[in-house]
Amino acid sequence: MDYKKLEKLLEENNQPAFRFKQITKSVFYDGVGSFDEITTISKDLRKMLSEELSSYPFTVKEVVVSGDKRAIKALFELSDGNVIESVLISPKPEVWSACISSQVGCAMACDFCATGKLGLGRDLISDEIVSQAVFWRGYLRENNIAGTYTNIVYMGMGEPFMNWEHVKESIEVLTDENLCNFPNRGLSVSTSGVVPGIEKFADTFGQINLAISLHFAFDEKRDKYMPVNKAYNLEKLKKSLQYYLSKNKRRLFIEYIMLDGINDSNEDAIALTKYLRLIGDKKLIIVNLIKYNSIDEGFVPSTAGSVQRFKELVKRGGIACTIRKSIGDDIHGACGQLAGKNKC
Ligand code: SAH
Ligand code: SF4
Repeated sequence: MDYKKLEKLLEENNQPAFRFKQITKSVFYDGVGSFDEITTISKDLRKMLSEELSSYPFTVKEVVVSGDKRAIKALFELSDGNVIESVLISPKPEVWSACISSQVGCAMACDFCATGKLGLGRDLISDEIVSQAVFWRGYLRENNIAGTYTNIVYMGMGEPFMNWEHVKESIEVLTDENLCNFPNRGLSVSTSGVVPGIEKFADTFGQINLAISLHFAFDEKRDKYMPVNKAYNLEKLKKSLQYYLSKNKRRLFIEYIMLDGINDSNEDAIALTKYLRLIGDKKLIIVNLIKYNSIDEGFVPSTAGSVQRFKELVKRGGIACTIRKSIGDDIHGACGQLAGKNKC
């Protein structure tokens, strides 16, 4: 919901000051999708708001639940006809985490990613980003699904740091205690390594988690599969991460997709460990090994044995390392599979 417009409308209609809180609470906390549902305000006011404003800046085209019920994917159509996706994931029982998009498609063209194959449609504005997270509050409430929902990750479609201004505003709205009031520490932003964005993020958001989609510890390989590396190579990325850690004593999350025969050798693990140790305090760095989710592009996921061996080597180098389970791949809702079309 465009809360600034709401504020203006309420003022023009001589509404008391508390109305703003009442309505933002219904929309942002309860995820109410229509003003008609807010029965604590008058019929006339509901009618006026419905005519002038919408609670979500998109229509919900489809919601698909995975077989194990631990991932729910929603397809939203924006007012200009573009389509985006968001996924709600349950990493453990009664805990929910939303994965939200920051752009329609993505310009970064990583070879292994379905979103990257789309190219960039456009940036999302703050309200379009925020409303994805708010939608899931409403979905959990309407469907009587139990659990806590305090985590939001910017890991859907798009590169957040190529849409800095809107992403920045969306983080502010999501964490503002008078608006959405999600806890700062529940938010994480993931980037493919857009250095100017990392620096601005370090200066602006000391409390929000940062994840880096590193995937390769050699420039030649990173150049080949992640074109962003040609602009911001591993050396430049390292400097920006050193800066981040110098400003924020927070954990830094390193994402690493395991691709069979491409980046999963002992040499890769040792190079990764060496690289990360140069960034700063190794106790602040945690590597997440991610299973490659197939997008029919000729990559093959590493075997379970290779992943385990890789993990041991990283740990032996003194860096914490976990293997991330893939959730939602049966509904094409897992990492890297969001392509704005429903294949189920
Ligand atoms: N553009 C940002 C945010 C998207 S996050 C970024 O790249 O960080 C999506 C995560 O899924 C990234 O870590 C990305 O590298 C990873 N990913 C992309 N394609 C994937 C695939 N096919 N299988 C598994 N992970 C993938
Ligand atoms: Fe864009 Fe991230 Fe996909 Fe790369 S991995 S194409 S940066 S969404």
